[in-house]
Amino acid sequence: MTSFQSELFPGSDDRRARNSVLEESLEAGRSHVVAAHPEVLTVDWKEHLAGFDFESARDLTDTIEWVIGSLSTGIVHMTHPGYMGLFNPHPTYPAECADRIAAAFNAQVCVYSHAPAAVEIEQHTIAMICARLGFSTPGGHFTSGGAEANETAVLCALTRACPEYGEKGVPAFSGSPTLYVSRESHLAWLKIAHAVGIGRKAVRLVETDGAGRLDPEALESELARDRDDGCVPVLVAGTAGTTNAGMIDPLLDIHSIARSANIWFHVDAAWAGALIAHPERARVLKGIEEADSVTIDAHKWFATTMGAGVFLTSQPRLLEEVFRVQASYMPESTPGTDLYVSSNLWSRRFVGLRLFLSLATVGWDGYAKMIDHGIALSDQLAEGLEAAGWQKLNASPAAVVCLLPPPGFLPVGKIVERLQENRRFWLSAAAYEGRAVLRACITNGRTNSEDIDELIHLLSSIGNDSG
Ligand SMILES: *Cc1c(COP(=O)(O)O)cnc(C)c1O
Repeated sequence: MTSFQSELFPGSDDRRARNSVLEESLEAGRSHVVAAHPEVLTVDWKEHLAGFDFESARDLTDTIEWVIGSLSTGIVHMTHPGYMGLFNPHPTYPAECADRIAAAFNAQVCVYSHAPAAVEIEQHTIAMICARLGFSTPGGHFTSGGAEANETAVLCALTRACPEYGEKGVPAFSGSPTLYVSRESHLAWLKIAHAVGIGRKAVRLVETDGAGRLDPEALESELARDRDDGCVPVLVAGTAGTTNAGMIDPLLDIHSIARSANIWFHVDAAWAGALIAHPERARVLKGIEEADSVTIDAHKWFATTMGAGVFLTSQPRLLEEVFRVQASYMPESTPGTDLYVSSNLWSRRFVGLRLFLSLATVGWDGYAKMIDHGIALSDQLAEGLEAAGWQKLNASPAAVVCLLPPPGFLPVGKIVERLQENRRFWLSAAAYEGRAVLRACITNGRTNSEDIDELIHLLSSIGNDSG
């Protein structure tokens, strides 16, 4: 008998012992998280890292402890209640559990026959989201994130507009293909245009309406001008939850323009798509049910761990056209159930389990309550600062506020610098309709109203201190 003994594959007893040590170290590491901002990495730390030359073996537990210690001070902490930054969440505990389970079995989700239970769990979750959106034909899959989901939308749009695109590429079009998003959209669109071969200049950044939303009249005139110039418009995407200000584009107007122009209508709801969990607040997404495709990130307001997006489409047949492939070594493929022939990835992690477990644990209503909490805290922050002379400029129906300091205060950039020195709160500088604002996005489920009071107090003192 030849057997292989290695610390890479410890036995059950050994694993259990290590698991409990790992659990202890993680809890200790988490309790050391005292600030949202990282400490500067020291020369000693970098030397320690360089010492891992991989020539000699090291004890796993020691290395794990070093890594956890490093992370507890060496990264921006989205788990800290003072993190009010970009759309990164404090992950849900069920999502953390899901990551662990996915890792333990390492299900290969790319072919149905390899992981029927996992694929069914993912597809069930997708179908439930589609039902929530109001799609009559559910379709879609989990992605690595919003950027991949948006790219999938562009590939579908190009293929729908010109079925030959798949074989011949852009030259199959009668003119340059173009796509339309607002200038407040997420600029992953530029990278996507580059990657799919239509070029960055194909992205039309349509004017906004003075309130951070795509201006439908500007969209119509850009479309008309491009058509006159011989371009071939293929897609318009409305953003639901702009990055700077959490604004929702006029989806119904965009839908009717897309229909008369006969182009693909996508809704990029990467962040604010989570509002579908909340029946009243979801009304601001009216029009999303008409979309050909929708992006929602599980790892944003649904607060799963990082690397979990969702692409949803009411036209799943196009996915099979875009991602078709035949490989002799793969099991016979069934489009629609075998994800490697209907999505961008090949090998696939069981990513959807994170959202499934979270939704199963608290239901849509549990998420609705989390959303209410974030919006209530955003209102508290805005009202508290308005009472001190600040001005809230954006009217987002979600949990992002863009705040203009009172006259005589430090400029926004300086305020953000002071916050960084203080390390307790992470907020960003942003631009809203051409003005510099302090931006706060409150989606951390563990931030509370005392944190907000403390932030208001801190902002008043640093903002006033012009020294
Ligand atoms: C975050 C975001 C993206 C990009 O998504 P990733 O998950 O970071 O790839 C695209 N669009 C919008 C509106 C976003 O908020």
